[in-house]
Amino acid sequence: MKPLSKSTKLADVCYDIRGPVLAKARQMEDEGQKIIKLNIGNVAAFGLEPPDEIVQDMIRNLPHTAGYTDSLGLFAPRKAVVHYTQQKNIKGVTVDDVYLGNGVSELITMSLNALLNNGDEVLLPSPDYPLYTASVALSGGTPVHYMCDEQSDWLPEIADIRAKITPNTKAIVVINPNNPTGALYPESVLREIVEVARQHQLLILADEIYDKTLYDGQVHTSIASLADDVLCITYNGLSKNYRSCGYRAGWMVVSGDKRHARDYIEGLNMLASMRLCANTPGQLAIQTALGGYQSINDLVAPTGRLCRQRDLAYELLSQIPGVSVVKPKAALYMFPRLDPRLYPIQNDQQFAYELLAEEKVLIVQGTGFNWPTPDHFRIVFLPNSDDLAEAIGRIARFLEHYRKR
Ligand code: PLP
Repeated sequence: MKPLSKSTKLADVCYDIRGPVLAKARQMEDEGQKIIKLNIGNVAAFGLEPPDEIVQDMIRNLPHTAGYTDSLGLFAPRKAVVHYTQQKNIKGVTVDDVYLGNGVSELITMSLNALLNNGDEVLLPSPDYPLYTASVALSGGTPVHYMCDEQSDWLPEIADIRAKITPNTKAIVVINPNNPTGALYPESVLREIVEVARQHQLLILADEIYDKTLYDGQVHTSIASLADDVLCITYNGLSKNYRSCGYRAGWMVVSGDKRHARDYIEGLNMLASMRLCANTPGQLAIQTALGGYQSINDLVAPTGRLCRQRDLAYELLSQIPGVSVVKPKAALYMFPRLDPRLYPIQNDQQFAYELLAEEKVLIVQGTGFNWPTPDHFRIVFLPNSDDLAEAIGRIARFLEHYRKR
């Protein structure tokens, strides 16, 4: 048999969050070594349990949810999502505009696949959640990154967005709250992005999966609520706010001016049909989650576990010489900077690899988020305070050795 190669479609596809450094960590674990994992936002794995009503709902529904559903999803959870869009002031949404998916990930790739022809460009933040860059590339499109400014709390640089628009630009991705930076965009910035999209007829792809994971009394604004006349797809789901990522339950909502998007929506419907439907127990969990007790609020309150861990990680990282970090307003991540004068890193994947080998702490290198220079890394602040302090202590020790090399 001829050697089997992967498709050339994968040539530009990269997803470092689960890349080679994780493979090394797995190997070390197989050898019996204990690793502190600051690499993945797998919330439930850190003892942050999903709301019990969601678990009970899954158990109760399992025996009679073995059948397929409508491709877009069951009526009741889609109706619950419509109600949620009302709470978020997104206008004119009906059940026909709501698609349920096996997590947001599936819906992201679906909506990009339905949109892009070879050479079409999509504006993506840098740093980004790398699934977007990978999915654009897999769909035959060209990812074009606009910069987010660390000096301004990681807000998108509107001038850079404008400068990177070409006749081939089809869409702009807005991840708010942001992974990996923890930024939360004020309404004024969102309005500027809407204006750019309006002027250049771009589809807005709005990832709001962390919209309830907000600290210090922050309030989240859905960009679609500011864009009645601009086509928007808003993604959300249970993975983070409800700590249920293994249940693979997410949704997307098409809103705004749909008159000129009938053909695209036909494409979305076709791709939704091809994957038949999202898992049925996960679909039903959506209405239970949205209508239930919002326990995320307890976790992000000043005395809540997530908020305390954010504060601790911020404080400890900021004390390390040559490390600076913007305090996250939302989400589960930090994206610290390593001063290149102290840490002249050439290859940040190698840096992550060495940290893992020497200190048994797993992070993800900044270039894995399509950040252009090897001077950042991402951590999740999900481990409990003891583990977090231990992990950051080890990072500090590793960096001290690094400085003395
Ligand atoms: N979008 C963002 C910004 C994320 O950070 C993640 C997961 O970390 C996802 C989407 C994936 O979500 P899901 O579990 O719903 O596929």
